[in-house]
Amino acid sequence: MKVSPSNRKPLIFYYLIAMVALMLLNALVFPMINTVQVNEVGYNEFLKMIEERQIVEVSMSDTEITFTTKDADGQTLYYRTGRWPDETLVDRLYASGATFSSQIPTQASPLMDFLMSWVLPIVFFVGMGQLLTRYMTKRMGGNNALSFGKSNAKIYIESQTGKTFEDVAGEDEAKDALREIVDFLHQPERYAAIGAKLPKGALLVGPPGTGKTLLAKAVAGEAKVPFFSIAGSEFVEMFVGMGAAKVRDLFKQATEKAPCIVFIDEIDTIGKKRDGANGFGGNDEREQTLNQLLTEMDGFDATKGVVILAATNRPDSLDKALLRPGRFDRRIPVELPDLAGRVAILKVHSKDVKMEDNIDFTTIGHATSGASGAELANIINEAALRAVRMGREKVSQTDLEESVELVIAGYQRKGAVISEKDKKIIAYHEIGHALVTARLKDAAPVHKITIIPRTSGALGYTMQVEEEERVLMSRNDALNQLTTLTAGRAAEEVVFDSITSGASNDIEKATAIARAMVTRYGMSEQFDMVALEQVTNPYLGTDGSMVCSSETAARVDAEVGDIIRKAHAKAKEILGQNRGLMDRLAKHLLDRETITGEEFQRIVREYDQEEAKTVDEA
Ligand code: ADP
Ligand code: MG
Ligand code: ZN
Repeated sequence: MKVSPSNRKPLIFYYLIAMVALMLLNALVFPMINTVQVNEVGYNEFLKMIEERQIVEVSMSDTEITFTTKDADGQTLYYRTGRWPDETLVDRLYASGATFSSQIPTQASPLMDFLMSWVLPIVFFVGMGQLLTRYMTKRMGGNNALSFGKSNAKIYIESQTGKTFEDVAGEDEAKDALREIVDFLHQPERYAAIGAKLPKGALLVGPPGTGKTLLAKAVAGEAKVPFFSIAGSEFVEMFVGMGAAKVRDLFKQATEKAPCIVFIDEIDTIGKKRDGANGFGGNDEREQTLNQLLTEMDGFDATKGVVILAATNRPDSLDKALLRPGRFDRRIPVELPDLAGRVAILKVHSKDVKMEDNIDFTTIGHATSGASGAELANIINEAALRAVRMGREKVSQTDLEESVELVIAGYQRKGAVISEKDKKIIAYHEIGHALVTARLKDAAPVHKITIIPRTSGALGYTMQVEEEERVLMSRNDALNQLTTLTAGRAAEEVVFDSITSGASNDIEKATAIARAMVTRYGMSEQFDMVALEQVTNPYLGTDGSMVCSSETAARVDAEVGDIIRKAHAKAKEILGQNRGLMDRLAKHLLDRETITGEEFQRIVREYDQEEAKTVDEA
C-alpha cells in the first residue's frame, strides 16, 4: 500500500538531525563564546609578576594557579601556571595587593566544562525527543502521551486506493451488495433522514484469492473516502491488552474521519470461536481483542458513516457473536469465478500487457476451471515473463497455455483445477437433481445450477427456490425432495454406470428427511402416527433421541431405507426416460459452468417441443 513518504520518517532521522546540529554548535559556537586567551607561564615568571605587583586576581586549585593581570590599555589578561611547594606564597600575594577569588572565569573551569559537554547535550536530546513525540502523536491524531498499543503505525489512510469496481471482474452479486454501501457513504444524511440504518458491518466470505481484499479497496475507491486497512493478525500483540488498545484506537480514529471504511482483513485471526478449549492460558489476548471489537461495534453510531468491512476465508470458524445483528450481519459471498468470470478476469489483467491480437481467452478459461482470480492474474504475469524470456515483444497464446500449467501445478492446491472427467461427472450429477425436479409434480423450480466449487466444499450446486414460503410439508413434498436428492447419484449410475463419493451430502440430507418422515411426521404406513423420536432441543434442530424399543428402532431403520430406495428408483427411472434431454443439459452446463433457472427451463421446453413434433410426424 502506498503511503506518502513525508509522513513516515523514522524517529532516528530526527535524532540524526539533532546530532549534526549539536556537533556544529560544539565546533563553531561554543569556542567563540569562550575565546578567552589563557597564557601558560612558568613559575618564575609568576613570581616575578608578584614582585612587580602586577597580579589583579588569583585563584588556586590543587594542581594549578590561575591569575589575571591588566595590560597598558586596562584589558584583562589570563594566565595559568603550575603549583609549587611555596609556604609564603599567600602572604606575598596578599602583600602585592592581589585579590583572592574562588573562581576566575576562564574556559578552564571544570564545572563549565562538565555543563557544556554533558548536561547540555542531554537536556537538548531529551527536549528534542519530547517535542518530537508530541509532534508525532498529534500528527497521528492521538493525544495519548503513552503511546503503547496505538494502532497508528499499521493503519493506512488512503483517500483513494486507486481501485474501482472496474478492476474487479465478475463477482457481480458481491459488487451489487457493496454498491449500496458505496451509496450510503456518498450520502449518509439521506439515509439518516429517513431513519434507515445500514448494516454496520459486512463480511466478505470466500476462498483465498477470489478478490475480497480487492473488492474492499474498490469500495473505498468508489466511495472516495478514507480507507483504514488492518489485518487481523496485526491486532494480536506480544503484550496482553495491546490488541484491545489497538482496536479502541482504530475506532476512535475512524469516528473522527467519518465517513470512512474500516477494513479488517483475515478477521478469523481474532474472530475465532471462543470455546475455552485452548488449554492453558488460552488465548486471553485474542479474546480480549475480540471482545473489544464487539464492544466498539455495538458502541458506534452507524448513521455517522463508518462502515466496517471484514474478509475471511474461514467463516465457519468465526465466533457467533460477530455475526449477530448489529455486527457483521451481512454476508457477501465471493465465490470462485465461473467461465465467464474467468475470461473477464483474464481480460482485466491483460489490459496493461502487450498481447498478440489473436488471443483466445475462452480456451484459457476452459482450461482453468476452479482457479481463483489471483491464480488467473498470475497466469497472465507468468505468460508475460515467458514472452520476455523468449525474446518476444508480445504475449502469445502459447505463452498463456504454458503458464496455465506452470501456475496451476505450482500451487498444487488439491483440486484447484478439476479434471475434465470429474467435471463431466459433476455436471451430470447436478443436472440429474435439476432434471428430476423439473419432471416431478409440484416440486420447487430450479433457480441456478453451477459446477463451480463452493466455499462450503460442495463441488456443484443446484439451487431450488420455492415459489412461496411454505410452513407445512406434505408427504408428497417430502417424497419429491427425496427423489430430487437421490437424483444426483442416479444420474451417475445411468450415464457412467458407476458411483462416486460426490453424493455424500445428498445422502445425509435424504436420510434425515426420511427418518423424520417415519419417526416424527407420521408419514409411514407401518408406524402411522406414533412418535418414535423426541427432539431434545428444538432450537438446535439436531437429532432427537429414539423413544422406542430396540426392535422398533431396527424396523424404523428398515423403513427409512425402504423410503429412500423407492425414491432412488423413481429418480433413476425418470432420468432413464430423459436421457437425451439430460445429455443436452449437461453439455450446456459443461460449457457455461453456471446456468440460470430460466436457461434451464428454456432448454427443457425446447426439447419437449422438438420431441412432441417428432411424435406428431411419426
Ligand atoms: P483475497 O483477499 O480474496 O484472498 P485478493 O483480493 O487479495 O484475494 O486477490 C488477489 C489478487 O487477485 C488481486 O489483487 C487481483 O489482482 C486478483 N483478483 C482476484 N479476484 C479478481 C477479480 N474478480 N477481478 C480481477 N482481479 C482479481
Ligand atoms: Mg485478502
Ligand atoms: Zn448432489
